[in-house]
Amino acid sequence: MKRNAPGTPLIVVSNDDGIRSPGIKALASAMSGIGEVVVVAPDRERSAAGHSLSLSHPLRVEETSPGWYSVDGTPTDCVNLAVNGILRRRQITLVVSGINKGANMGDDITYSGTVAAALEGTLLGIPSIAFSLATWERYDFEVAASFAVKVVRNVLVHGLPKDTLLNVNVPPLPESEINGIRVTQMGKRIYGDAIVRKRDPRGRHYYWIGGDKLAHEGVPGSDLEALEAGFISVTPLHLDMTHYDSMKALRRWKW
Ligand code: MN
Repeated sequence: MKRNAPGTPLIVVSNDDGIRSPGIKALASAMSGIGEVVVVAPDRERSAAGHSLSLSHPLRVEETSPGWYSVDGTPTDCVNLAVNGILRRRQITLVVSGINKGANMGDDITYSGTVAAALEGTLLGIPSIAFSLATWERYDFEVAASFAVKVVRNVLVHGLPKDTLLNVNVPPLPESEINGIRVTQMGKRIYGDAIVRKRDPRGRHYYWIGGDKLAHEGVPGSDLEALEAGFISVTPLHLDMTHYDSMKALRRWKW
C-alpha cells in the first residue's frame, strides 16, 4: 500500500456499536471532509466490551465496501488490526471512535468499548478521540458529528500530549440549545440497585445488569455535570492510572 499524500490526514474510524450503526456512518462522513478515512469496526454491537483483546480465536476481516472493514472482534481488536495489520505500511494521523449511542462519562469509561478503541490508538502512539451522544432515546448524530470536526481540527493543530486521549460527550440537543463546551474531569456515577432479577420461560432465574440512569455525585467540573447543564464535555484521559499519592503510604506498610 502507498503512503497517504503529504498533508492529507489518514483517519481510522472505529466504534463499539458495530459497523452498521448510524453513529459510525455520521462520524466517517464528517471525517471524510478532513482526510482519508478507513473504517475498521466490529461486525456487531460490542458495547461495554471494555479494553478487551481477542487472543484465543482468529479474527475474520471483510471489506464490505472500499475502505470499510468489518471485523468479528472487539473495538480494541479493530484498532489494533487497523494499525498493525490493514494499514501497517501507512502513517495513521488519528484514531476516532464513535459516535456512540449513549454517554460515556464518569466511571462508565472503564466499561466503554468506544473509549477503549481510542485507548488502543493512544497505546499504539496515535492521537485518539472518543465521541459519544448522551442519549438512549433519539439519535440525531448531526450536531455531534459537526462538533467532532471541530475537535479533530484542533487536535491536528495542537496535537495531544503523550499517552493522552480525548473523551467527548455531546448532549442530545439541537445546536442552538447547546450552551457551549466545557473541559471537564471524570465524574463519579452512582450505580444503585441496577440488577434486575426475573424468571425465564423455563422457570429459572436470570439477572440483567442495568444502570442506564445518569445519577451522579455532583463532582464540580465533571463530565456528568457539564452534560446535565447542556454543555459539550471534553475530558483529557491519561493512560497512567497510578495513584501517586498512595505510593508513599504503601511503602510504609509492613510487607
Ligand atoms: Mn456502544
